[in-house]
Amino acid sequence: MKKSHHLVTRLQHLGTLPCDAEHPVAAVATPSIRTSTVRFHSLEQLERTESLRAQGERAMSYGRMGLQTHAELEQIFLALENGDRCFLASSGVGAISMTLLSLLSQGDHMVCTDNVYGPVRSLDETILQRMGIRSTYVGGHDYAALEAAITPDTKVLYAESPGSLLLEMLDFRALSEIAKKHKLIFVVDNTWGSGLIYTPLELGADISIIAGTKYIGGHSDLMLGAVVVKGVELGARIDRNQYALGYSISADDAWLAIRGVRTMPIRMQQHAANALKVCEFLSSLDATVAIYHPAYPADKHHALWQRDCKGSNGLLSVAFKGSREQARAFVDALAIFYIGYSWGGFESLVQWVRPQGIAHHSYASEALRTGEHQLIRLHVGLEAVEDLIADLQQAYDKAFGA
Ligand SMILES: *Cc1c(COP(=O)(O)O)cnc(C)c1O
Repeated sequence: MKKSHHLVTRLQHLGTLPCDAEHPVAAVATPSIRTSTVRFHSLEQLERTESLRAQGERAMSYGRMGLQTHAELEQIFLALENGDRCFLASSGVGAISMTLLSLLSQGDHMVCTDNVYGPVRSLDETILQRMGIRSTYVGGHDYAALEAAITPDTKVLYAESPGSLLLEMLDFRALSEIAKKHKLIFVVDNTWGSGLIYTPLELGADISIIAGTKYIGGHSDLMLGAVVVKGVELGARIDRNQYALGYSISADDAWLAIRGVRTMPIRMQQHAANALKVCEFLSSLDATVAIYHPAYPADKHHALWQRDCKGSNGLLSVAFKGSREQARAFVDALAIFYIGYSWGGFESLVQWVRPQGIAHHSYASEALRTGEHQLIRLHVGLEAVEDLIADLQQAYDKAFGA
């Protein structure tokens, strides 16, 4: 596949096995190559592989780092993010912990935007603090506070955009300037964009992390993470740490991710189109006080989304003026939207975000924090949008009707 082809074209062809004079007939779909170890046809070949690995190259030498199925999935992540090296992990959180454990040592400090995915704080409180690593959380738009939080020990700036609860867009270019000025490694969680609709490495990030669990897999049947790195040196650092930590994923999971990613562009378009229609519907409801979805023109950060993103997806939140009981009644009355965490699968999901769930977020309004407004997060799936809107309407009538 030529790099000049469109990404969508490359996503259909990356990872297919060779079909040439030596292999005159080949499977179209990439197989899952399961193995715990590999064999070498000579000792010389084994030694060549060892030396390539010592130079930081991806050379297949043992089952833990995988064979062709893993290598092809890594190539797909590199094509999506335009990175230099990719490392797979058994979940998105695994990819985050692999990255931070690779980059931070005792006495180091990290600055995080305060909208980061909740388990990042668990990693901080459970492991990083115990290792003598400190973190400070700051609003991602408050550049003065961000710079003020940086100390001589600060090594990493960690950010997520848009946040997965209030969907606030951050300005990665501005944040990367701050990181460069203070010689910090700029790490971002790009699960929302999954490399298709948002490419942070092109906006100045050094490392982009994707939970493949979400849109890459796309079918709610896979846990997977990827760390995509810009720069060979930084790549070698993650490589050594991944090896030492023993992170590994099953070939079957890599296979499911490859299978899922082929249809990601078309799925994402449909999620995005459905979500915009749901936003329009929600805006017509009396109880709606805010809609959080950067592709929606009334969103506060729509201009930034237009500048930095190539598309959108099915994730949105809505704030209703009403009581906790009304929010709970609304969620329970939905029939098509399943009650559940996560997003990125084919199905529509709903979650009531309790005030304590966004207490840490500087972007949350006072009314959301005090519980005067209720935050409902929706993942708009691939069902007929008319059915989704009808479901939302009947639940709204039950919970908020006169
Ligand atoms: C789901 C999610 C993760 C974690 O992925 P898992 O595979 O569930 O561990 C990380 N970041 C964001 C933004 C997510 O939504």
